[in-house]
Amino acid sequence: MIRTLLPRVASKPASRPFIASSSHAFQQPRYYLFSRRDRGYATEAPEHDLVIIGGGVAGYVAAIKAGQEGLKVACIEKRGALGGTCLNVGCIPSKSLLNNSHMYHQILHDTKKRGIEVGDVKLNLKQMMAAKDTSVQGLTKGVEFLFKKNNVEYIPGTGAFSGEHEVKVNKIDGGEATLLAKNILIATGSEATPFPGLTIDEKRVVTSTGAINLQEVPKKMVVIGGGIIGLEMGSVWSRLGSDVTVVEFLGQIGGPGMDAEISKTTQKILGKQGMKFKLGTKVLSGDDSGETIKLEVEAAKGGKKETLDADVVLVAIGRRPYTAGLGLENIGLDVDNKGRLVIDEQYRTKHPHIRVIGDCTFGPMLAHKAEEEAVAAIEYITKGQGHVNYGAIPSVMYTHPEVAWVGQNEAELKEQGIKYRLGSFPFSANSRAKTNLETEGLVKFISDAETDRILGIHIVGPNAGEMIAEGVLAIEYGASSEDVARTSHAHPTLAEAFKEAAMATYSKAIHY
Ligand code: FAD
Ligand code: NAD
Repeated sequence: MIRTLLPRVASKPASRPFIASSSHAFQQPRYYLFSRRDRGYATEAPEHDLVIIGGGVAGYVAAIKAGQEGLKVACIEKRGALGGTCLNVGCIPSKSLLNNSHMYHQILHDTKKRGIEVGDVKLNLKQMMAAKDTSVQGLTKGVEFLFKKNNVEYIPGTGAFSGEHEVKVNKIDGGEATLLAKNILIATGSEATPFPGLTIDEKRVVTSTGAINLQEVPKKMVVIGGGIIGLEMGSVWSRLGSDVTVVEFLGQIGGPGMDAEISKTTQKILGKQGMKFKLGTKVLSGDDSGETIKLEVEAAKGGKKETLDADVVLVAIGRRPYTAGLGLENIGLDVDNKGRLVIDEQYRTKHPHIRVIGDCTFGPMLAHKAEEEAVAAIEYITKGQGHVNYGAIPSVMYTHPEVAWVGQNEAELKEQGIKYRLGSFPFSANSRAKTNLETEGLVKFISDAETDRILGIHIVGPNAGEMIAEGVLAIEYGASSEDVARTSHAHPTLAEAFKEAAMATYSKAIHY
């Protein structure tokens, strides 16, 4: 329920989303809130228009955008590489392992029926990890290049507030610096939530950071949490040969955002691939003192206790905002009970020149959400307006098949008493999916019962992560299911399943 959780950020202008035209490029920036003299600076130290703390997706995108807008901008990053969680230990390395472990699994189990006889197939885990590291390094270095191209000053070090317009940097290569700034953007991201009683060593008890870097395939892995990280990383190690059990507190996998019908179908498919699930089950405690790790679990509603054994335990129970060591106390800024920095609809804290975006504030912890906010925050600074439509942020789980959705699911609509129509189309009736021998899954549309405006689109199936982009665009433009149904889709493509699901919503599908 993003809409009620979030502040009403960046209301959409009456026209289409803001697009910078060439005339904007010549406008005078309107970001000068106060003059240096107003703020009582005694020294003539050089001042930045904007200092960004954190060089993750939120911070680096904001830095590039600020450079493009002509601001004098610096970005402070403490991990020694740009790109944050996403590029270094999140989206990118996990997707590298998901892609390559899928290829390995497919070669082992899914080539014979396609007429491909493969000889001796071996896993070279070291090389798989090296391929992942190469992708990561290429991309993080790419961000450094973009910084140079857009005149962004990159300062490797840890930043902390020493005043409302002042950030002290403890530089990685030694020494300190003090930066003065008209505007400051906090983009310090998030960290894995630890499980009480288990010590994370990133070898036997791991978060996602250890799970993307295991040096051998664990015989038995227990994953605490059947959310996106648990299912993606559980998939990787299951495909590579581990006996993986996912323990999830809720009655469904994928978190509450995933539509219940899609979640059930996904669980069935992942189950056939070898993953085991214990739903409606909570982990009570863990003991990592022995040769194997022992987890005590119990039905969430209370009941029989059981002990699970594992060589590796992946703790994937969510992430929490990270603001440690930022010196918030020096400027009187507080976090809420979930550790989030509180902001208004223009991402401003109670000090209007200090803004916050990305994982360390409200909303889904997603890289593309952080990116949208980064651009909007800079446009608020330079132009006084920005645009993020939180009702049209897609979610994608990169298992095989992928799961993707945008908008609301059935449970959310029921809770709000909104009447809706459903339409779905199975990939088993789609010609391209049949040709590719990849027929598991479905596309499901939910539209308003009265107006037919699309309220949600949910997909589990081949290429769902790419296909959802069409759904995001449809929702962004306020399309009806009939609009999509009357739009030509190339044949034979998987996207025809998308069109047919829309047809099934406002009328009838042709091929099912
Ligand atoms: P971060 O990426 O966490 O960046 C914050 C940066 O700030 C960090 O590099 C940190 O070192 C730095 N920092 C913190 N404090 C200071 C300080 N005081 N001084 C200087 N620097 C500081 N999202 C998706 O959309 N798609 C995916 O496929 C996906 N996969 C994921 C897989 C995994 C395993 C994980 C863990 C996350 C994944 N995510 C994914 C989520 C995504 O990574 C985050 O939403 C995104 O990285 C948030 O960006 P951010 O810039 O807000 O924070
Ligand atoms: P999550 O919130 O998605 O899932 C955590 C799960 O753990 C929940 O389903 C919760 O019910 C369960 N849980 C909590 N405590 C438990 C307990 N004691 N016993 C059993 N189950 C328990 O969190 P995550 O999977 O750790 O992911 C963190 C963040 O990273 C998410 O916000 C996610 O969006 C982001 N992420 C996104 C992607 C992607 O977009 N593909 C990939 C990875 C991570």
